[in-house]
Amino acid sequence: MKQLVFLSGKGGTGKTVVAAAFAHLAAEGAPRLRAVLADADVDAANLDLVLGPRPLEAHDFVSGAVATIDAQLCRGCGVCYAVCRFAAVLPPADGRTAYAVDPIACEGCAACVYQCPEAAIQMTPQLAGRWFRSDSRYGPLFHASLRPAQENSGKLVTLVKQQARLLALDDGCDVVLVDGPPGIGCPAISAISGADLALIVAEPTAAGIHDMARVLEMTAHFRVTALVCINKADIYPEAAAQIEAYCRAEGVALVGRIPFDTAVTEALVHGQPVTAYRPAAPAALALAEVWRRVADRLVEDAAKGERS
Ligand code: SF4
Ligand code: SF4
Repeated sequence: MKQLVFLSGKGGTGKTVVAAAFAHLAAEGAPRLRAVLADADVDAANLDLVLGPRPLEAHDFVSGAVATIDAQLCRGCGVCYAVCRFAAVLPPADGRTAYAVDPIACEGCAACVYQCPEAAIQMTPQLAGRWFRSDSRYGPLFHASLRPAQENSGKLVTLVKQQARLLALDDGCDVVLVDGPPGIGCPAISAISGADLALIVAEPTAAGIHDMARVLEMTAHFRVTALVCINKADIYPEAAAQIEAYCRAEGVALVGRIPFDTAVTEALVHGQPVTAYRPAAPAALALAEVWRRVADRLVEDAAKGERS
C-alpha cells in the first residue's frame, strides 16, 4: 500500500482539483487502483465538496488545554495575572473579585495553576475540532474540521492520515490519496510524514517557482520523492517554461501540464471532479494523463517493494 500526498507552495494552485480528479480516476479511470482518500487540509478542508461524502462516523478532536478559574475559589490576589506571560488572565470586572482567563490568548503553560495559592485554577482540555469517516462517490474518505482559533492542526492531520492508512491496510487497498495543506508549515510536514510520493501542483506565476522550490526543499529534507505538475500551464508560458527548466536542473520529474479550462470551474460549481463532469475537456484529458503517469509509478514502486 502506497501513500501519495498532494502539495502546493500556497493555496489556490488547484491542488484539490487534482486530488479530486485522482480520486475519481483511481475509482473509474485507468489504471484503476483501490484508494482510501484523506483530506489533510484540515484548516480549509474542501475535498468533500466534490466527492459527495455520506458521513458514517464523527469524532471529537480534543487537543491541548487552557486554564480555567473557579470563581467560587478565587480570592482575587492577582498572582495569576502577574505570572502569566501571555496576558491571558483578565482582571475582575463589573465589581466582581474573581479573575478570569481568555481561552484564545491562553497558551496552556499551566504556570498560573502552580502559583495560585487557592488551587482555584485547573487546566481544561479543549474541543479543537471534529474528524469524520465517510463514504464518498469514489471510496472511503477521512476528513476533519478545526474550530476557529485552534492550534494543533498538525496533530489532526496526523490523526486523519492514520485512520485512512489503517483502513487501507485492513481492506488491502493500493493507495492512500492525501490532499495535504498548502505551504511548508507544521500541518504540511505532518501530511508528508510517511508518504511514498508527493505530487506538487505548481502554478505558472512570478512566485510559482519560489513556492514550488520551498516545497521541494521540504520533500527532499524528509526524503520523499516529489513529482511536479503545472496547473493552468498555458496562462503564462514563460513562467511555465521556468518551472520546467528548474525541474530539469534539479532532477525532478515533471509529470504534466494542465491547461486553463473553464470546465474545471463548471465542474466545481456542480460539485464534481472535472474528469467526471466533462471527461473530454482539455483539463480532464491532461489530468487523466498525469494520473496514468503517477499511478504507474505507484504500481512500479509497490512491485519493487514486494520483490526486495
Ligand atoms: S492566583 Fe488564584 S486566587 Fe489569585 S487571582 Fe488568580 S485564580 Fe484568584
Ligand atoms: S496557563 Fe499559562 S498562558 Fe494560560 S492563563 Fe495560565 S499562565 Fe497564562
